Amino acid sequence: MTNTLSIRDLQGSQLAPLAVPHRLLLGPGPSNAHPTVLQAMSTAPLGHLDPVFLGLMDEIQSLLRYVWQTDHPMTIAISGTGSAAMEATIANAVEPGDVVLVGVMGYFGHRLVDMAGRYGADVRSITKPWGQVFSLAELRAAMEQHRPRILALVHAETSTGARQPLEGVGDLCREFDCLLLVDTVTSLGGVPIFLDEWGVDLAYSCSQKGLGCSPGASPFTMSDRALAKLRDRPSKVANWYLDAELLGKYWGSERVYHHTAPINLYYGLREALRLVAEEGLANCWQRHQNNVEFLWQSLEAIGLSMHVDREFRLPTLTTVRVPDGVDAKAIARTLLLEHNIEIGGGLGELAGKVWRVGLMGYNSRSENVERLVAAFQQVL
Ligand SMILES: *Cc1c(COP(=O)(O)O)cnc(C)c1O
Repeated sequence: MTNTLSIRDLQGSQLAPLAVPHRLLLGPGPSNAHPTVLQAMSTAPLGHLDPVFLGLMDEIQSLLRYVWQTDHPMTIAISGTGSAAMEATIANAVEPGDVVLVGVMGYFGHRLVDMAGRYGADVRSITKPWGQVFSLAELRAAMEQHRPRILALVHAETSTGARQPLEGVGDLCREFDCLLLVDTVTSLGGVPIFLDEWGVDLAYSCSQKGLGCSPGASPFTMSDRALAKLRDRPSKVANWYLDAELLGKYWGSERVYHHTAPINLYYGLREALRLVAEEGLANCWQRHQNNVEFLWQSLEAIGLSMHVDREFRLPTLTTVRVPDGVDAKAIARTLLLEHNIEIGGGLGELAGKVWRVGLMGYNSRSENVERLVAAFQQVL
């Protein structure tokens, strides 16, 4: 048989091997991975059912319970970015017709509304101007009005730099027989968080922000209350890949193949979590707080001001007001191309009004603050 098809190929192309500039990533994520995390990720892969690899998965689970301060047995990494873990919480908690109340105080609240709607929820939302947070009294009033099955809040709203206090919210949810779902993508590893003490039933995060790893392996957890709702549901979870019951058979004692884990990302995540444990979680949180206070003080010293009230500012992400007459995009572009520093611009209500500066994980260091502020002063 003769093959009459000719190959359209790139053989002999002049494409060079990968070479990218070394940037300091001080935007809303990703942050730079710690050197030992990069090293871990370049280790040769094991099989996804290799006993050594399964042992690493167990360690990841224990370390995730530690950084989240939870005892939930169902605490795993989702193979995907933070949005996949976000979708996993929605897919497993929401049954069609459930009333889901979402606190929207920025971009990621809107994303929760969109996702919950796609899974058939009867979505209700309460809103705040971007940069503000909900009080417990406001949440109680909304619970009384809407009587939701699930309350979804964003702990660290990366689009605004605001930290939603969660003390007392879990008790409120129990009073109304409701599950509490929390986005901890920009808080895990950098902002004090006590999932069990706060009564959080479902939470998710990512690897590339406060934990200082590459994107792609994302923390996910469910309480026994949330698992009970999952077991009682009459309909199947609409998303096969993110079905917690199926994932639990791979992460739990059964070790049933579900999907091929992104082995090298799990290596990186384990190393990133190990570094947090080595430093100590309380020390890690304190380091983020110290460095962000140094950032605020240094920015104020060159005449810039912060968007969020000090009490509710995140240690991981700061929104800095763009002075009148300054082209925010042009400044960010110059920082990137001339100083190799990435920062973020404003989204939604804050587009053009703020820059977003992240000090997350390995990047939360005083020398990075000094480098950024010196560059800022030069380009302004
Ligand atoms: C980054 C982020 C996400 C989405 O995570 P990806 O890893 O980009 O998919 C969700 N919520 C918040 C608050 C975030 O900051």
